[in-house]
Amino acid sequence: LVDLILALDFGGTKHAAGVIASGEAVWRGWKRAITPDNGTAREDLEIMFSLARDLLVGDIPAAIGASFGGPVDADTGLVRTCYHVHGWDNLPLKNLLEQEFGAPAWVDNDANLAALGEHRFGAGRGVQSLFYITVSTGVGGGWILNNHLWRGANNMAGEIGHLCIDPDGPLCACGRHGCLERLASGCGIAEDARLLLTRSPQHGQILHQLVGSDLSAITAQLVSQAYNLGDRLSQQVLDKAAWALGKGIGSVANLINPELFILGGGVTNAGERYWQIIRQTARQEALPDVHFEIQPAFLGDTAPLWGAVVLAQDNLNELK
Ligand SMILES: [Zn+2]
Repeated sequence: LVDLILALDFGGTKHAAGVIASGEAVWRGWKRAITPDNGTAREDLEIMFSLARDLLVGDIPAAIGASFGGPVDADTGLVRTCYHVHGWDNLPLKNLLEQEFGAPAWVDNDANLAALGEHRFGAGRGVQSLFYITVSTGVGGGWILNNHLWRGANNMAGEIGHLCIDPDGPLCACGRHGCLERLASGCGIAEDARLLLTRSPQHGQILHQLVGSDLSAITAQLVSQAYNLGDRLSQQVLDKAAWALGKGIGSVANLINPELFILGGGVTNAGERYWQIIRQTARQEALPDVHFEIQPAFLGDTAPLWGAVVLAQDNLNELK
C-alpha cells in the first residue's frame, strides 16, 4: 500500500492542489483554480478542500504539505496574516487541514517551499546551499543551507525584498526607503514606468502605444514587452530593476556564500539583457573569491507545490 501525499498551494491569484505517491516524482493528479476577487479565507479554504477531494477520490492521505502566500509560523502552522484576502489573520491552517483530511499537516510560506521544491526537484538538484528568489508582484526568498531549509529564529529568514539598496531611493510599502522590493518587483517596475512616462513621455513611446492612454494599466509585463522592443524608458526602468537585484544578490553572496542563486517569478522572464545586468552587477558587488552561479528557476509557478510535497514527505519520514 502506498502512502499518498497531498500538496496544497494557497496563492494570491490561484490555488493549486496535487496528489503524489510517497517517494515518486510524478503527480497522480493535479488541479488548479483561480481565486475569486474580493474573496475571504473561508472561500479560499472551500475551493482548496474541493480541489483536494476531487483528487483524493475518497482516499486518505498519509501526510499533507501546504504552501501559503504570506507570513506563516511554520512551528504551529498558524497563518500570521494575508495581505490581499480577509480572514486569514491567525488562522490555524495546520489544524484546519488535519481536521478536514484526517492526516498530519505541515505549513510554510511560498518562498521557503519554492526553495525546497527547486532544491529537490528543480534547478537546485545536487546543490548543498542555494538561495531562491522570487520576483513577481513582490520579492521574496528562501534558503537551503547544507541541504536543509533555513527558516531563521522567527521563520523570517530570506527577506531579501527589504534589503536596502538605495537609502535615498523611493518609499517602500514597509515604510523604509530604497528596498530591493520597491526597486525590482513587478509593482515597483510598473510604478517607476508610470512616473517616468508622466514626466518624459517622449522616451516611452513604445510603452505608451502598448498601454494606451490609461497609465494605471501599466504592468511589469507590458514594461518587459516594451523593453524587448527597444523602448528607452522601459529599458531605463528594467535595467535599474536588474541592477538592484544584482546588488542584492552580490551582498547576499558575500554574507552567506551559497553555491547557487535561483531566480523565479514572472519578472525574471524579461529576457537576456535583464539577466546580463543581474549577473554583471552581482559579480561586481561580490568579492573576487566569492563564487556563485545565478540560474533561472526550473519548476515555474509549481515550485511551492513541489516544496509542499518535500515538506510533507520529510516530516512523514521523521514520524516513521
Ligand atoms: Zn521595504
